[in-house]
Amino acid sequence: GALIAATSLSGCANSTSTTTSTDSSVAGAPVKIGLLLPESKTARYEAFDRPLFEAKMTSLGNYQVVYSNADQDAAKQQQQAESALTDGIKVLVLDPVDAAAAASIVASAKAQNVPVVSYDRLVAGTSDLAYYISFDNEKVGKLQATSLVEKLTADKTPNPSILMVNGAPTDGNAVLFKKGAHSVLDKSGVKVLAEFDTPDWSPDKAQTWVAGQITQFGDKIDGVYAANDGTAGGAVAALKAANVSPWPMITGQDAELAGIQRIVAGDQYMTIYKAIKTEAERAADIADMLARGESPTGTSDVGGVQTELLTPVVVTKANIMDTVVKDGFYTVAQICTAQ
Ligand code: BGC
Repeated sequence: GALIAATSLSGCANSTSTTTSTDSSVAGAPVKIGLLLPESKTARYEAFDRPLFEAKMTSLGNYQVVYSNADQDAAKQQQQAESALTDGIKVLVLDPVDAAAAASIVASAKAQNVPVVSYDRLVAGTSDLAYYISFDNEKVGKLQATSLVEKLTADKTPNPSILMVNGAPTDGNAVLFKKGAHSVLDKSGVKVLAEFDTPDWSPDKAQTWVAGQITQFGDKIDGVYAANDGTAGGAVAALKAANVSPWPMITGQDAELAGIQRIVAGDQYMTIYKAIKTEAERAADIADMLARGESPTGTSDVGGVQTELLTPVVVTKANIMDTVVKDGFYTVAQICTAQ
């Protein structure tokens, strides 16, 4: 009898101590962190950024990621931010659709004392950002253009002429990619036949534009500077549909699986590999520090914002094994099966 009573009492004591007091509320209710990504036509966001960020947050503590994707729509992103703030997020990690428009999201967050991390794309016109994590984006443009110019030179293409398919003008990164690319192209002797800023980075809009240029320039197109793999895919589709010959050299960015497969197949010359895992996991580390009330310090300062810029890497057929495969971004089987 005494033993049963003792057991029963100790059970009560235990359950009392775990269901009352502050312990249980801390352990029970997760801290919410907002993650807002800009679009889903580009593969990286749903395939890498989101799952890698969520996994890292979970490993760091009792966190719940409140996630939304804006599908290229800046107004939709504004609403997603408002509802995440209403939901009680403690930190907002924001990859803005529209760099300028997103300043009002930062203002809303500030009004609720929620620190904002500008993720991959920089929010323009505000220094009220707790942190900015990205890659050296001007360098991305320089690397793309340098590798295209070197290839056309190595192939001894006479009077090389190219098309430029840039990213969305509302994305500050696209502006930097274009600036970096021009800094190389403009003094290279390569002629830019025509240039297009692709609205929303839409691959289909890039395709339509390139198709129109093929009508005009036909086999005079020796290369296509495409700012990312999505727009490169659009360019390749247009060039294939028109049976353009000889096949132009095409750039890209993101090391999307489809882009790597096009490189293996010879349809695309190069891409830029950005270690998204590092970027997403660093963003999670920063969010964790901010949630705990710390003030993370970057490696540089951009417009008064603590900044960390990671290094982009050129990928051609020659170094796929030494880059994306070595880094575990893809297995050889992934690259080879879907072809
Ligand atoms: C990112 C690229 C991406 C593009 C389109 C840019 O801001 O840096 O990786 O391909 O947006 O979403």
